[in-house]
Amino acid sequence: MTITIKGKPSNERGTCPAQYRFGETFSDHMYMSEYTPEHGWQNPRVIPYQALSLDPSAAVLHYSQEIFEGLKAYRSIDNQINLFRPLANIKRFNRSAQRMVMPQVDEKLHLDALKALVRLDQEWVPNEQGASLYIRPTMIATSPKLGLGASMNYTHYIIAGPAGNYFTGGLVPIPVYIADSFRRAVKGGVGEAKTGGNYAASLLASEQVSQQGYAQVLWLDAIEGRYVEEVGAMNICFVYENKHIVTPALSGSILPGITRDSILTLAPTLGYEVSELRLDIEVILADIASGKITEVFGCGTAAVISPVGTLHYKEKDYVINQNQTGDVAKHLYDQLTGIQYGRIEDTFGWVESL
Ligand SMILES: *Cc1c(COP(=O)(O)O)cnc(C)c1O
Repeated sequence: MTITIKGKPSNERGTCPAQYRFGETFSDHMYMSEYTPEHGWQNPRVIPYQALSLDPSAAVLHYSQEIFEGLKAYRSIDNQINLFRPLANIKRFNRSAQRMVMPQVDEKLHLDALKALVRLDQEWVPNEQGASLYIRPTMIATSPKLGLGASMNYTHYIIAGPAGNYFTGGLVPIPVYIADSFRRAVKGGVGEAKTGGNYAASLLASEQVSQQGYAQVLWLDAIEGRYVEEVGAMNICFVYENKHIVTPALSGSILPGITRDSILTLAPTLGYEVSELRLDIEVILADIASGKITEVFGCGTAAVISPVGTLHYKEKDYVINQNQTGDVAKHLYDQLTGIQYGRIEDTFGWVESL
């Protein structure tokens, strides 16, 4: 299927000025296509960024039948535009769609759509180190009906906007609060899918911990309240004795992050040992207290790596690596961003240039 382009390249020079708050400024165009059961995906097009027209009874607005993705385009040191593992996002989008009873999007059409949008709006890809163009593929249920049941009609759209360097002053550790009463997701539920309801459900906990000065919530499993799952919208890694990287095994309620997967693939080539395990929070905290755990960090597309300096659990703060960014976090951050920006050779086939 060919994608119609309705728009001209913009002249915006992607310098990503600091006044662009992440997620609040968008490029000039968007991709859009509509689905009907009779005709499948129709009229794929790139058009000027604009408001959607939805019936107030549209299923997405009532029952949250929606999914999304998050990936980035990077301007490389030789001025190419790089996407990082876009097919991994496209496949995860389809897995989320399946869980939410939404239609699949052809992988090639989706990749062509991403490329068509980023190509047209490429002047929006910042040239500042650490900055990027954040891309948000989305699918929503549009059938005007309040009767509970999967929608018949859907809209797939993609928007994009500049994202500044997450860490302007270098990697800075964050304080994290371990949720002891709130839970994010349960096995058998939708925690594995990137679907809006998961994030709405986490807002109250985030609000409460932020009032106490913590930047993120660490989630424990919903059944026993004992096993480590994720931190905010990131996966989490623990480093034992500066060399062994341990992350929770995918449990059915953890979002399978692409950054997590990249670390599990990359780290062994850099001489680290990696393990995916079920991690008991009491053991983790004891290993922090004894100094066996030398670093903790979150990982996700937005920050790449986000060191954790403090973990708060049941009235007590546990400080990690003297609240400093550790060498392993820094090493992985430099390697991953090196591949994304073309400073380091990509031996994994992860980078897809436009
Ligand atoms: C998106 C997301 C992640 C990180 O996934 P990446 O593919 O690495 O960006 C982790 N946890 C949650 C809950 C997420 O939504």
